[in-house]
Amino acid sequence: MKPFFEQQPLRFECTRCGRCCVAGGDYYVFMSDAESEAIRSYLQLSRRWFRRRYLERLEEGELVAASGPDGRCVFLDSEGQCRVYKIRPLQCRSYPFWPELVRSKTAWQREARRCEGINRGKAIATDRIRKFFNACRAG
Ligand code: SF4
Ligand code: SF4
Repeated sequence: MKPFFEQQPLRFECTRCGRCCVAGGDYYVFMSDAESEAIRSYLQLSRRWFRRRYLERLEEGELVAASGPDGRCVFLDSEGQCRVYKIRPLQCRSYPFWPELVRSKTAWQREARRCEGINRGKAIATDRIRKFFNACRAG
């Protein structure tokens, strides 16, 4: 059976509310070594300082963005905007078109309670969603 996003158009328009950048619990912003290096270079920070201040390694060895006690991503500024928006990791660029969210109507509608941009604005081209779907699965 086709995934939900192949069955009907999905609408999305980000309002930049920043809610998806404040998580907590077991939610992490995963990034590859290349993505973290691109962000470090963009912020013009030394490797050592960047690692200490902005990154965490999970027990399994995965690299994630550090977050505050309230779950705010370390790259979120005081205005609720991403300081590295132009080069944010794939996980952020592809949201909310993650495989687990666009696979079923139930998951998509459940996520709409968290993200006010879901079901807002124009329909997103299926090809674009498929690109993210495949990139996330490959990653
Ligand atoms: S929660 Fe949704 S609308 Fe808000 S910033 Fe994230 S993607 Fe955009
Ligand atoms: S990197 Fe930017 S877009 Fe991604 S969670 Fe952090 S603040 Fe949000």
